[in-house]
Amino acid sequence: MRFPLSMTAGMAGYIVKNRLRPPEAWQQSSKMNGDAQNPFRVLYKDHSSNGTRPHPLLHKRFPLVLMLEPLHACNLTCTGCGRIREYESTITQRLTLEQCLRASDECGAPVVSICGGEPLLYPEIGALCAGLLERKRHIYLCTNGMFLRKKLGEFKPDPRFFFNIHLDGLEKTHDLCVEREGVFREAIEAIQAAKAAGFKVSTNTTIYKETDMKEIEALFEYLEQFDVDGHMLSPAYGYSAVDDREIFMTRDDVHEKFQDIDRLAKRFKLNSSPVYLDFLKGGRDLPCTAWGTPTYNVRGWKGPCYLITDAHFATFEELMTKTPWEQYGHGNDPRCEHCMAHCGYEPSAALGINGKLSDSVKLLAWALR
Ligand code: SF4
Ligand code: SF4
Repeated sequence: MRFPLSMTAGMAGYIVKNRLRPPEAWQQSSKMNGDAQNPFRVLYKDHSSNGTRPHPLLHKRFPLVLMLEPLHACNLTCTGCGRIREYESTITQRLTLEQCLRASDECGAPVVSICGGEPLLYPEIGALCAGLLERKRHIYLCTNGMFLRKKLGEFKPDPRFFFNIHLDGLEKTHDLCVEREGVFREAIEAIQAAKAAGFKVSTNTTIYKETDMKEIEALFEYLEQFDVDGHMLSPAYGYSAVDDREIFMTRDDVHEKFQDIDRLAKRFKLNSSPVYLDFLKGGRDLPCTAWGTPTYNVRGWKGPCYLITDAHFATFEELMTKTPWEQYGHGNDPRCEHCMAHCGYEPSAALGINGKLSDSVKLLAWALR
């Protein structure tokens, strides 16, 4: 994720400090099942011993982005939204303001992505953002934009605070994805109103198998007139256990979609890091570091990741120490086979796992832009 330069420096300091001395309580590993027969199992190499030890940073666990879901209720029913379906039985429940702030204190991640559900339906959303800003967190408030104009007065502009508006294409495509006409228009009006009021605004686009990347370029071109502060891109999660290749992208499909991403990154302010984009286009491999983006919601700390749920834990420490992290990720769990989602792999990019010599230059140029 991209921030103003001073904040990027703060984030870099946080990463360096935790890489050197990660909080001890979070480093205990749950035992692996030891299934050496697992044909999917891959061991990441560190080139320093017999070549079979996982990368050392995979044992220095600390969070970068808290995915905070104060509620799962939403005014839309988008095609393919896992949340409103997975949490159907608790859809009327919500976290208290105290629970939200406690979760942020408990894990200490410098960035909080407030998602859901539709966070603007959360009655204390203004107080929640104010409380997180007091704690010096950077906030991405992810919204479909439908209530933003109405709720704008509950927020104050702050360089640490971004409205992150969901847009999956131009008007026709986006309205089709969210299954309601008029949503794109309202989101655009929300962007204009937020920018006019002095807020930072970014957009968030999921790339599906059907997505035409030329349309995404046209969307970014269209958004230039509103002086949008950045765009996030992430491939849709391909749940291989469902085995429906008609809907989900394989890793090869993702590489193909992102082949031309360097040209787009030169033209537009992409918030995804250059290392993660290189991974998406197939330029390098990265292991999953799902603990870098923990999710907290009405059922607790969701493990192992934002996408798949094997357990909910009462405390962050339990999530960190009771999740068998090494059993997840590409090559380890069939459900992870085609996942290249930002929640699993952006932290790996930020942590410099499988880094190349040229990365620092690329990252500095990206931050300066
Ligand atoms: S707006 Fe977001 S939370 Fe609501 S249905 Fe769509 S994807 Fe799900
Ligand atoms: S690869 Fe990582 S982020 Fe993706 S589904 Fe598996 S555990 Fe979750």
